[in-house]
Amino acid sequence: MYCTRCHGLMIEVDMREVSSQDSVLGWRCLLCGETTDSGIEANRLNHGQPGRNRARVPGSPPARAAKGSVR
Ligand SMILES: [Zn+2]
Repeated sequence: MYCTRCHGLMIEVDMREVSSQDSVLGWRCLLCGETTDSGIEANRLNHGQPGRNRARVPGSPPARAAKGSVR
């Protein structure tokens, strides 16, 4: 298992929550401290990659209308 941020080596850690009796296995990056577990990974798969052009403020001018950007 390698870190999704810095590709460093990740070690297995017990990420059990205080309120839960279940033992949740997760991973922690030795280099940057990034932590993840099966639940987080599942959420990432469900939501997919963040889209760049999905969010658009209502009423905002089109990007092509900006002055000085004509090529
Ligand atoms: Zn890392």
